[in-house]
Amino acid sequence: MTKFSFTKATDANDAVLKASSLTNAAFIAGGTNLVDLMKENVARPGALVDINQLPLHTITETEEGGLMIGALVTNAATAYNPLVEKHYPLLSKAILAGASPQLRNMATAGGNLLQRTRCYYFYDTATACNKRNPGSGCPAINGFNRMHAILGASEACIAVHPSDMCIALAALNARIHVLGTGGTRTIGFNGFHRLPAETPEAENNLQPGELITAIELPAEDFSSHYQYIKVRDRSSYAFALVSVAVALQMDGNIIKEARLALGGVAHKPWRNPVVEEHLRNQQISAPLLQDAAEMMLAGARGYGHNNFKIELAKRVIIRAINEAAGIL
Ligand SMILES: Cc1cc2nc3c(=O)[nH]c(=O)nc-3n(C[C@H](O)[C@H](O)[C@H](O)COP(=O)(O)OP(=O)(O)OC[C@H]3O[C@@H](n4cnc5c(N)ncnc54)[C@H](O)[C@@H]3O)c2cc1C
Ligand code: SF4
Repeated sequence: MTKFSFTKATDANDAVLKASSLTNAAFIAGGTNLVDLMKENVARPGALVDINQLPLHTITETEEGGLMIGALVTNAATAYNPLVEKHYPLLSKAILAGASPQLRNMATAGGNLLQRTRCYYFYDTATACNKRNPGSGCPAINGFNRMHAILGASEACIAVHPSDMCIALAALNARIHVLGTGGTRTIGFNGFHRLPAETPEAENNLQPGELITAIELPAEDFSSHYQYIKVRDRSSYAFALVSVAVALQMDGNIIKEARLALGGVAHKPWRNPVVEEHLRNQQISAPLLQDAAEMMLAGARGYGHNNFKIELAKRVIIRAINEAAGIL
């Protein structure tokens, strides 16, 4: 067991100060991912900064008519919040597709964004892994890679981001509010997580010591036509092989606005604005959806065990759009 110190932050500035000044510090929220990683010796923080006392536990309406979800709101409290259920049911559905009731009671919004990949080699400290130990290699590329990426991967890493919640947040154009030593800033969801490229250890664009304070959902109405489909090896308590979040605005059979995000296929939630533009103002039809699915998977590459994901993703995209539109 690696020794670490434990300290409770009294407010957000105190948390940032502690995280920036203590050596190799990490925030701890629900602990459902970080504690597991510490037990497996994958994460070895020198200091834990407990943020659970911070006033980031509420969901409030913004002046613009959107929602601000505090970073410490649990996944359960988010999914069952009446405002989220009414205005952002896609988010509720995606969250409830993840983990288990017990975990969702502990897991927080901020922690969900930063949960680490479920690549088996990453968790096994007896093996090489570029993400855990940069420069050591990636055994998944020629190894067992059933759950791994088919889009946006690199020769350094083919891991996927495991979150369900983040796939809905990507489709809903969420914004992440953060606080650092230099003050506050907001990051668009697409710019929050990173593709692996040559530095798979860098999973997001947070600066060292930056604290996520809230997730903002813009005031857009995707509450009537949405779907989240998660395909996995077990019907519960399993991470996505492929998941699809769809949010539409419809006028009869015409798609007025489309959002499409894929999970389980890349190091970050996968969106392609060109595909969404292709769907916009079009009458829904089988050829249109087939084209959208093909475009979404353009450039996809399998690594052997995960080749099936390419065709699977296309089929799930078509089904999810049809269901969101109310065709099926
Ligand atoms: C058995 C199991 C099954 C699961 N299944 C699913 C699933 O199907 N789908 C899914 O989406 N998830 C799943 N999860 C993951 C779960 O949702 C995450 O573990 C959880 O969301 C993490 O939140 P937390 O508050 O516990 O984070 P913690 O474990 O406390 O922290 C995780 C990371 O986030 C950092 N952090 C936390 N809060 C902040 C903040 N405010 N600012 C900056 N950094 C912060 C921590 O330093 C740490 O690096 C599963 C987990 C387990 C254990
Ligand atoms: S896919 Fe990424 S996380 Fe998995 S072994 Fe390779 S480098 Fe490590």
